[in-house]
Amino acid sequence: MEEILKILIVDDDEVDRMAVRRSLKTAGIKMEVVEAINCQEAIASLSHDDFDCVFLDYRLPDGDGLSLVQDIRSSGFKAALVVLTGQGDEQIAVEVMKAGASDYISKSKVSPESLARSLRNAIRLNRAETLAQRANQLLQESEQRYRFVLEGSNDGIWDWDIIRNQIYCNERCFEITGLSGDGFVSTYDAFCQLIHPEDRPRIIEIVTAHLKLESECNVEFKLRHVSGEYRYCIAKGKAQRDSTGRAFRMSGIISDITERKQALERQRFLAEASAVLSASLDYQATMETLARLVVNHIADLCLIDILEADGLVRRLGAAVSDPSKENLVRQLKHRYPPDIDGGHPAMKVLRTGNSELVREITDDMLEAATRDAEHLQIVRDMGFRSYIVVPLLVRGRAIGAISLVCTQAKAAYDVSDLALAEELARRAALSVENGQLYREAQEASNNLRRAIIILGEQQQQLRTLQQLTNLLNQRLSDLPGLLRLMVQAVCDAIAGAEFCFIMLQNPQCDRLVLTVTAGIGTDKLQLEDGFGSEEGLLSQVFLTGVSQLIQDEERGKEGHSQGSQMAASMYVVAIESAQAGRLGVLAIGNWEDTHAFDQEDGFLLAAVGEQAAIAINNARLINTLEEREERLAYQNEILAQQNQDLESLSTQIQLQNLQLMEAARLKSQFLATMSHELRTPMNAVIGFSQLLLRQRQNKLTSHQQDMVERILSNGKHLLTLINDILDLSKIEAGKLQLKPDEFNLVHLVRATTDELRSLASEKNLSLEVQADLANPQIINDSARVRQILVNLLSNAIKFTDFGGVWVKLWEVSPDEVAIAVQDTGIGIAEENLNHIFEEFRQVDQSLSKRYAGTGLGLAITSSLVQLMHGKISVESKLGEGSTFEVVLARNVSK
Ligand code: ADP
Repeated sequence: MEEILKILIVDDDEVDRMAVRRSLKTAGIKMEVVEAINCQEAIASLSHDDFDCVFLDYRLPDGDGLSLVQDIRSSGFKAALVVLTGQGDEQIAVEVMKAGASDYISKSKVSPESLARSLRNAIRLNRAETLAQRANQLLQESEQRYRFVLEGSNDGIWDWDIIRNQIYCNERCFEITGLSGDGFVSTYDAFCQLIHPEDRPRIIEIVTAHLKLESECNVEFKLRHVSGEYRYCIAKGKAQRDSTGRAFRMSGIISDITERKQALERQRFLAEASAVLSASLDYQATMETLARLVVNHIADLCLIDILEADGLVRRLGAAVSDPSKENLVRQLKHRYPPDIDGGHPAMKVLRTGNSELVREITDDMLEAATRDAEHLQIVRDMGFRSYIVVPLLVRGRAIGAISLVCTQAKAAYDVSDLALAEELARRAALSVENGQLYREAQEASNNLRRAIIILGEQQQQLRTLQQLTNLLNQRLSDLPGLLRLMVQAVCDAIAGAEFCFIMLQNPQCDRLVLTVTAGIGTDKLQLEDGFGSEEGLLSQVFLTGVSQLIQDEERGKEGHSQGSQMAASMYVVAIESAQAGRLGVLAIGNWEDTHAFDQEDGFLLAAVGEQAAIAINNARLINTLEEREERLAYQNEILAQQNQDLESLSTQIQLQNLQLMEAARLKSQFLATMSHELRTPMNAVIGFSQLLLRQRQNKLTSHQQDMVERILSNGKHLLTLINDILDLSKIEAGKLQLKPDEFNLVHLVRATTDELRSLASEKNLSLEVQADLANPQIINDSARVRQILVNLLSNAIKFTDFGGVWVKLWEVSPDEVAIAVQDTGIGIAEENLNHIFEEFRQVDQSLSKRYAGTGLGLAITSSLVQLMHGKISVESKLGEGSTFEVVLARNVSK
């Protein structure tokens, strides 16, 4: 079915419009026609509908055909335009065609055929153009997008025109090489020159093969950047071939994988480092290996400094990539060892714990970090460019630092290198911490083992000493035997001791004298000559008390006399203790081995030396003690003998006492009996004598009277004596009983004094009583008190020739009264005062002849006073008089 065309006819002349319509109809064109009479209507119609073709008159009332064509095209209407001109005007025709008309027909030549042909041509052309335009637009859009893609891509795009040997590169390509479009001679050969020489032959081979054989082209290689550094790249390409299969063009992409590659390498480096770090707990060795690994990968010089437990920094790792600089590094290590307070960047990092990255090292920096001109020169010679120092942190504390330095040959370090170094330091810190912990644990374990060994040795020594002490205790007093035993025990206890001897100080000659030896070859010892002299070594030990290990260093050397009597080694200690002081020296020796003894042997020997001093001192003390004991035993024997004698004497005395007591008892009994038996006849004698004297008848002659008076006098004296003896014996026999009664002492004293007054008067003596008693009443046996008074008073009168006698009474206390009898008589010598109270004791036998008496009065008086629980005392001076004082209880029965 034929297409119905939509046609717009623009003409202000109706006839012309009809003519066009008729012609088209005649030509058999099926169509739908719209008419417009001016430009305005034409534009409006075009705006409403799509037309296949517009026939327009060149002359229109509101404009010409040219401007309409321009308007239509500029408005983007796609219809075919056929311009109808009034007359043949080539100029117009050209202009309307230029403006976008599809065809033009002169009105004069309009016919159905020409119009239909022009219509069809115009429509076809217009459609073709529209299609072409559309395609072109699509192409442009597509290219635009393609360009966007290419330029936005991270990959480099290249296009190699093989025929013209021209390579097109996008911006990214240039970025990879650092070259600009201008600087790059874009030929295949120039490109090949950029490839790393190691990779170049392989790449050329692969490309050639691809061009020939269509094998795949997918390669990896290193490409030189303008900086001199090589970038890792991968490239893919595909050739375009002509109909004969010959490649005329090849294009593809190229990608820079340096970073990916470096990241991978870093990963691999870290993995390798981890392997090194975990391979051993000996971190000192590990750090050396690590430094080497670091210079193989990321540095030209690597230093690893570790802060050890002793507070010192040690350079455990130092490596350099350039073998020619190894010597410089060694010099640095030995001549300028790390110093925590120094200016080296590593020390600063150790102090602060903060990493440091210096991209470009300046000479000022080198000067600040070095210690002297030589140091600076060495560092300058190393040609450093950039460095990184990272701390090894353990719980925030820096225990070390890794320094990475690169030389001018390498790119300066950047933050990615710093990150890598920090990661390395993190791993290294863990390793060092583990190593240090392990080492501490090892040290602790070793210390423990050593302590156990020392303890064992000490126990052994203690056992030896204990055994020695036991033996010594058993032989304390046998000093020579004890010393023999001791040197033998030392030989047995100390493995290297071939001989042992003791020299003791002899106080007599003030020299050390060899006292005892044990072991082999002691007869060879020339102690007196070799050691014993003033300056000799043994004397030195004795004088200073300082132990000495004497080693014959000459031994084994050429020319050394083997016949020497010197031992190869000797250990000498003083025999000394705090109490005993220094007594001598103890020595052990070995004839052949200069290293036979160590310090432990010295300790044991010194301990034995002290034991020896104690033992020798003890033995000496014991000997002295034994001597003393002997003497004591002898003295004891004598004492025992004396004791025995004393005991027998005591027994005798006791016996004598008993006998005496018995004798006394018998005497008392005899005296009592005798007195009684004598008193009766004596009373008869006195009575009869008085009777004879009183008789009035047969008066006695004066001679008889004198005789009888003497009988009476002697009889009375005898009776007094008998009464006295009777009283005394009664008292001694305990048979005299007091008969207490209350009486007035003053009355009694006065009455008694008066009784004796005549005696005093006879001798022209005054006799006075001085009573000073508030209460004269006492309770006592008045007869016995009177007897006491009579005895004292009669003695006073008797032994006084001039002066007088005083009786004094006073109260000593409310319960006691005192009676004193004082005279101005002959007195009593001091030596006799103690004896006058004894029985029958008269001071002076010559006196007794002058002053008659029995020598019993004071004895009876004293006994009576005792019976009354009173006290009697006397004060007297020869030739001056005497005072007897009696103190009695007021109430004797209490
Ligand atoms: P006699 O019977 O001898 O007086 P006594 O026992 O009474 O015995 O006295 C002992 C001795 O004490 C006397 O012989 C005398 O030597 C001495 N004697 C005692 N009283 C006195 C005195 N008042 N003056 C000096 N001598 C005295």
